[in-house]
Amino acid sequence: MPANHDDVLRRLRAELPDDRIRTDAATLEALRTDRSGVRTPGPPLALVEATTIAEVRAVCRIATATRTPIVTRGAGSGLAGAAAAGPGELVLSTERMARIVEVSPENQYCVVEPGILNGDLNRALAEHGLWWPPDPASKDFSTVGGNIAMNAGGLLCAKYGVTREAVLALKVVLASGELIEVGHRTVKGVTGYDLCALMIGSEGTLGVIVEATLKLRPAVTGPVPTIGAYFDSIADAATASAAITAAGLQPAIQELLDTNMLLAVTEHTGVDLASAGAAYLLVQTDGPDAADEAERILAVLERAGGRATLTTDPDAAASLVDVRRQGFPALEARGAFLVEDCAVPRSRLVEMYARIDEVAARHDVFIATPCHAGDGNLHPTFVFEGTTDAVPEHVWQAAGEIFTAALELGGTLSGEHGIGLLKRRWLGDELGDAQLELQRRIKDVFDPLGLLNPGKVFPD
Ligand SMILES: Cc1cc2nc3c(=O)[nH]c(=O)nc-3n(C[C@H](O)[C@H](O)[C@H](O)COP(=O)(O)OP(=O)(O)OC[C@H]3O[C@@H](n4cnc5c(N)ncnc54)[C@H](O)[C@@H]3O)c2cc1C
Repeated sequence: MPANHDDVLRRLRAELPDDRIRTDAATLEALRTDRSGVRTPGPPLALVEATTIAEVRAVCRIATATRTPIVTRGAGSGLAGAAAAGPGELVLSTERMARIVEVSPENQYCVVEPGILNGDLNRALAEHGLWWPPDPASKDFSTVGGNIAMNAGGLLCAKYGVTREAVLALKVVLASGELIEVGHRTVKGVTGYDLCALMIGSEGTLGVIVEATLKLRPAVTGPVPTIGAYFDSIADAATASAAITAAGLQPAIQELLDTNMLLAVTEHTGVDLASAGAAYLLVQTDGPDAADEAERILAVLERAGGRATLTTDPDAAASLVDVRRQGFPALEARGAFLVEDCAVPRSRLVEMYARIDEVAARHDVFIATPCHAGDGNLHPTFVFEGTTDAVPEHVWQAAGEIFTAALELGGTLSGEHGIGLLKRRWLGDELGDAQLELQRRIKDVFDPLGLLNPGKVFPD
């Protein structure tokens, strides 16, 4: 039976303090989207800002009793539409659950609520000489719960891993309101199926993460040598990047920019980077061997034809990093854009860039592609006329061909941004029918009424 909205609101108001529930039009309108720009057909029913596990459980029990769908939301910084909520749905925000419950230096873990921002967490951990490595570019405004639900990546993954490698255990509220604990606080732990891993990257479709035990590392201190290298072609730059990995070297950051990115940055900043080369590779090393590693990487890059600069001077390093940092503002200045995300094995990057060029020419679209080269994770970014919330169909077609190319090269549809609403139509291409069906059945086991983030991830 469809939910009676008045009844849902009455039940919520009976169980939760007034300030937890918001129904004003401006608030609800903002919840129709996330940072992807995708927009649902209309605003959701209400926003509930939970502050405790008990409140989350109450909301889930009411949702189940009234058959009301729930869209869990962190900071809404996602780029796949995974947190976008529509008519008849309740938005359950975990943003106000932002406490650090425990920091345990002797176990190198901390226990946190899901709404804490990555940046705030790491500032607090620094006082203990500790660090949580997931480092999305959105770290100053994305929540740890959102990172876990999306299995977020970032710039440091080749060396320090993605979110999955940095989570030990979770407390999760199921749609029924039941609370489960998955994973282990121990370094080792192999009992039963690994439901903690299953939750990571599940995009709010299996449960509401209400507490996380995070695996920490000692903070990395000392200088961070920085190298900026220009190449005559993206193929030369990608080959050089693969040579760094093949040499057994492990930089913290390896960021690759193609010709269109350099053109856009040149246009935006007025600094003529496009004449310096057709592609740019930014590399940083860290840790006790950083200086030695940087020298060895410099030699690899020069052997591969790079015109490279190595520096430890903070100002000079900042200007080498700035070439990468200016990338998205430069693209934003050119018009509406769609930031996409796919990954290939690192040795296939040269082929992938060639395939992207073919697609751009075939559809006559401007595509600039920055890449976390150490992970083979590319962000083909389409710039087009119009508005970001109305991506033209020919751009989606071009994006689809890029996803197909990534799969053909042994890669994946998404390295870090997830599937959400935007990439559902291609999910079956990667998973195949048998696995897609198995995944739907897993969702049914956790959420038999289909209340958690319905319409996301799976194709209709
Ligand atoms: C400028 C910019 C840069 C970015 N850079 C990166 C990057 O480098 N790497 C990267 O991986 N991503 C990046 N992102 C995308 C985004 O920031 C990440 O996906 C982030 O992890 C989302 O966190 P959030 O708190 O905003 O989650 P939301 O966008 O609010 O939600 C994302 C998903 O998580 C679910 N969710 C949120 N909280 C919970 C919870 N407590 N329990 C269960 N499910 C939950 C939601 O239902 C939704 O499905 C970037 C985004 C922007 C705008």
